[in-house]
Amino acid sequence: MFSALALSGSRALGQTATFDAFLAALWREAQPLGISRATFDAAFAGVTPDARVLGAMQHSPEYGKPFGAYIAAMVSASRLAGATRKAGQWADKLRAVEKTYAVPGSILVAIWGIESSFGEGSADHWDVFRCLATLAQAKLQAPYFHDELLDALKILQAQRIPRQQFLGSFAGAMGQPQFMPSSYLKYAVDFDGDGRADIWSSVPDVLASIANYLRAYGWQPGLSWGFEVLTPRNIDYRVSRDSFRDWRTRGFERLDGGRWPDSGDAILFFPAGAPGPTFLVTQNFVVLKTYNNSDAYALAVAHLADRINGAAPFRAAWPLNDVQPSRSERIALQKKLAALGYKVADFDGHLDFDLRDAIRAEEVKFGMTPDGHPGRALLQRLGIAAP
Ligand code: CA
Repeated sequence: MFSALALSGSRALGQTATFDAFLAALWREAQPLGISRATFDAAFAGVTPDARVLGAMQHSPEYGKPFGAYIAAMVSASRLAGATRKAGQWADKLRAVEKTYAVPGSILVAIWGIESSFGEGSADHWDVFRCLATLAQAKLQAPYFHDELLDALKILQAQRIPRQQFLGSFAGAMGQPQFMPSSYLKYAVDFDGDGRADIWSSVPDVLASIANYLRAYGWQPGLSWGFEVLTPRNIDYRVSRDSFRDWRTRGFERLDGGRWPDSGDAILFFPAGAPGPTFLVTQNFVVLKTYNNSDAYALAVAHLADRINGAAPFRAAWPLNDVQPSRSERIALQKKLAALGYKVADFDGHLDFDLRDAIRAEEVKFGMTPDGHPGRALLQRLGIAAP
């Protein structure tokens, strides 16, 4: 008993010494950025590394969940009811934000609901400085969390957000829109006019900040994110990009009853392969992915926004046997496609539409339907998944 105590005591002392050294090195970087000693000390007073943060990072979802199950969970009946209520409650403010940023209010409410359940969820239970310091000291995804920690210090230095308000997710995403500190510095706005961009407790600031973010990442005013389509028989699956006009000429039918856009281009997207729901998506769908780099996330936001506006659920059924690749499989797929000579944007496991085109080309080689979906059969043929 005594020796165990002594051991844990000495280990704690060792960690403290290491953390002190980490903070000393951080201070040498922070000072030239204009961080005062008072700000630095306020940020880290009483802060120690938090082992729970590293554990939580290890257990973050692998996103291998079937697409349909993910959409159903994100666009649940209760979230849709909450979103519809919020859209009504904040209708005037949403109109004002939409007028300034030209991003539809329904998209803003959808992101707000999915990120933090409209600020009523449990997203913000962690101390941002403690979490980011833990992740930076562990050199996780270095230098990402290290840089975010320096950005958090810059926010505190500006003296508009009090120290105790720095609450977020275990990965440092803050407030109701779940902005990382770097996003806060670039995109958070004061829309209620009190002089502070308060993404923790001011709904107008939250909505305008999300809109400002999407606009800065290229949201095109008046352009739909896309819609579900019915695929005609005997199409050339290798064609993934075309104008709306030509998709229509090829015989695609819009399934939500809306008008086809008069101009513009769209990408043909099979989230769960050719047998499942099929979409034509635009640049604005790609912009939604800048908020959270996942097709499932973007489609959930887009669909929740449509449902707030009264749209029906998707028409086609999701395949029962849809197994989406895990993160490690997606990274292995990226490495394989790069080795085969395709241009790959990152090796973090993010699927973009260029990668789906590379998948189409490989599917053609194997005599499979080139729908750009990394299904089990393709992963097996590429030696990534066990047969
Ligand atoms: Ca404000």
